[in-house]
Amino acid sequence: MTLIERDSQHLWHPYTQHKTAALPIAITKGEGALLWDENNKQYIDAIASWWVNPYGHSNKFIADAIYKQLTTLEHVLFGGFTHEPAIILAEKLLAILPNNQKKVFFSDNGSTSVEVAIKVALQYFYNKGEKRKTIIAFENAFHGDTFAAMAASGISFYTQAFQGMFIDVVRIPVPVNGQEQFSFDALHEVIKNNDCAGFIFEPLVQGAAGMVMYQPEALDKLLQICQENNVLTIADEVMTGFGKTGKTFACDYLTQKPDMMCLSKALTGGTIPMAITTFTSALFDAFYDEDINKALFHGHTFTANPTGCAAALASLSLLETVEMQQNLIRINKGHLDFKKRVENHPMVTASRVLGVIFALEIKTETSASYYGTLRNRLYDFFIENGVILRPVGNIVYILPPYVITDSQLQRVYEVVESALEIV
Ligand SMILES: *Cc1c(COP(=O)(O)O)cnc(C)c1O
Repeated sequence: MTLIERDSQHLWHPYTQHKTAALPIAITKGEGALLWDENNKQYIDAIASWWVNPYGHSNKFIADAIYKQLTTLEHVLFGGFTHEPAIILAEKLLAILPNNQKKVFFSDNGSTSVEVAIKVALQYFYNKGEKRKTIIAFENAFHGDTFAAMAASGISFYTQAFQGMFIDVVRIPVPVNGQEQFSFDALHEVIKNNDCAGFIFEPLVQGAAGMVMYQPEALDKLLQICQENNVLTIADEVMTGFGKTGKTFACDYLTQKPDMMCLSKALTGGTIPMAITTFTSALFDAFYDEDINKALFHGHTFTANPTGCAAALASLSLLETVEMQQNLIRINKGHLDFKKRVENHPMVTASRVLGVIFALEIKTETSASYYGTLRNRLYDFFIENGVILRPVGNIVYILPPYVITDSQLQRVYEVVESALEIV
């Protein structure tokens, strides 16, 4: 039996309707921006395996750090114990995060980092004896698939089976160009009419919505409104963190600072699942008390796994190299040139670039559904041509590993350009 046949017998894949979906591709090897399947067909991973892998597949530097940690201390519980990799990682991260971030809480994935932030926002007010239960989020937000993260997410087919079972979330429009004032007004209105505890947002780029982008000035204004009303702000940088927007964090474009930040995806260079939520000292202090009931009763078995910490430390040092910083600039330049080349194509209705993120929207007669026919045709075309891209409805985006070579990147552009001819 092939790997695919054995897979079909026992495995249940994410976001997959197994009755209608194409069979998965069995990948056997990865190196740099390339992956190979069991028939030795080569693919360019132009979405960094769901945005997790900036430094290349099977990266030897990270692998060596993991091996060294695994053979020194692979894991120890973090309740009542600590270890150097977690301490150094916290020190290093806090040194590069906005300088109001003072405390680091570990978990396992993007959704749990959001879950922790939302629980802290709600319990912050509980601990202070104030009744605030509403979370504010953007339309079409994506914050993950666990319950509070799902409640904050606004992409309906991810959440429709669970309507009526969520914590209270009120949505405001994204302040895309020309819509800023609607967003500001909506935020004022929502805060006036609800007991709002927190506002969660994907800073500058909404990834899962199709790389929807908006300006830092608009986000600054929203953060200001929240601060004036004592509403806690949560920057979900799970996708945008570690260089994707051209700066280390999307929040580096802001003058305001969020109260909390969520990090995961590229944190360990795409090697080991790990996530971090960071907090201001004001937040930590609201839980610091003689009363045990004011503590944060949240934790996961593998919290602060030393091997994950070692992978994150190795990843951070790669991000800081001159070579990697030059890659960010090189890819951004490539994207801007490609945007110029395609933006006037009759099939392209919009295109945008921020950092290493490129997106274009393809003209459609009807509104394209997230996993609709157009999307599937595009996806299949890219796969046939050896490029891994997962369009969102009619939106094709590129978010490559930073180590992608110029010729690989040009190949991705060519395939995207030829896709415009088949639609
Ligand atoms: C992917 C993502 C999440 C969820 O992360 P998981 O690791 O898949 O649970 C949350 N927020 C944003 C912005 C994301 O892109």
